[in-house]
Amino acid sequence: MTAEIICVGTELLLGNIVNTNAAYLAEQLAGLGMSCFYQTVVGDNRERLLETLDMAAKRSEVIVLSGGLGPTQDDLTKETVAEYCGKKLVMDEASKKMIAEYFAAREMKPTENNWKQAMVPEGSIVFPNHNGTAPGIAVKAKKNHFLLLPGPPEELQLMFEESAIPYLQELSPNIILSQTVKTCGLSESFVEQQLRDLIDQQSNPTIATYAKTGEVHVRVTAKAGTAKDASKLIKPLVKELKARFGNSIYSADEGVTLEKALVDLLQGAGLTISCAESCTGGMLSATIINVPGVSELYKAGFVTYSNKAKRKLLGVKKGTLQKYGAVSKQTAEEMVKGLLMETKTDVGLAVTGIAGPDGGTKEKPVGLVYISCNVKGKVTVKECHFKGTREKIRRASVAAALMLARSCVLEYLSKEILK
Ligand code: ATP
Repeated sequence: MTAEIICVGTELLLGNIVNTNAAYLAEQLAGLGMSCFYQTVVGDNRERLLETLDMAAKRSEVIVLSGGLGPTQDDLTKETVAEYCGKKLVMDEASKKMIAEYFAAREMKPTENNWKQAMVPEGSIVFPNHNGTAPGIAVKAKKNHFLLLPGPPEELQLMFEESAIPYLQELSPNIILSQTVKTCGLSESFVEQQLRDLIDQQSNPTIATYAKTGEVHVRVTAKAGTAKDASKLIKPLVKELKARFGNSIYSADEGVTLEKALVDLLQGAGLTISCAESCTGGMLSATIINVPGVSELYKAGFVTYSNKAKRKLLGVKKGTLQKYGAVSKQTAEEMVKGLLMETKTDVGLAVTGIAGPDGGTKEKPVGLVYISCNVKGKVTVKECHFKGTREKIRRASVAAALMLARSCVLEYLSKEILK
């Protein structure tokens, strides 16, 4: 089944907001096994939206729209889609009730134009909005299905999961099921090369790779009459991926992030962790702390940005900083040794690097980052070379630190088992 995405909003065209809905929707549609060949951004303009709808309707079966469902004058997605489909707008009583309840719960009074949000094209299916007031809508016209979703990402995503996915799954006689196998520390080209034979012979299930910061995800998607049969098709392929990528796979569960996988690993082994950060400035700690329930194992984090802080808080020697510099293997090593002495945790992670855009030299360019991990006294230091903006380098450093911690802890645990 073919699908395409239309994001409506002049703010998007002006670059005032980043089109994260398009990325989210594209990934979701691919996960449902839909072929999505086009994405369009169009401003809040009736004529241009009509033109876009016409083009989309000729080339795709499902058209997913985001934005323009609000109560104001410039929100015209619903009206324009109804006009394009030749349908009248009628009051949806359930949506009207939900809007009334939404405002009552906040002790606010809806204005006249709030009721506009409860008007839907006749014959449409209404998707309730559990995060806001604008309901979503599915309208069928001739061979097309138009899905209208609200612009705010938290509203759109919840609605997509709760209502749009079941709607789209109904359209296909087959159940589409996918599973994502997440690898870290491998390049996308390497993963693809390892999968070449499977990709070449794929039909059902299909395999696709997606690169993320420091990670490559492999999505296996199968079509079958029932979920059980689809799952049967997926299983052997996931098993094969596990055999090919071994410990580079940190999870085969969609909801598990790299930090969650690390936290689970530490939790299972009863190990505690602390961090010392220079160029990441607390980002590593913040990422680990994002995982619920981490308090029993995450003990402390130091942001030691200056040399003085590295010396005072972590005991890095003045001579080391003078001889090798703050961004060096030696400093990273002393940072993580001092960290464990100070916090008495089982695992320590330290990061020191040059995030740029200034501060690079020929010998030590922007993007040079040293990451060290100390597991009960065994220190490993990794030299990394990242490219990109300051933000990108810092994010890549965090991902690399999580990966290093994971591999050092796995190594430690494998030796413990042999003892
Ligand atoms: P509302 O009822 O809040 O007015 P709406 O459906 O009319 O919702 P818009 O008015 O188009 O949606 O957008 C509301 C907000 O949602 C925008 O200001 C922006 O913050 C966010 N948003 C809209 N479209 C996108 C998008 N494509 N990607 C990310 N965020 C978006």
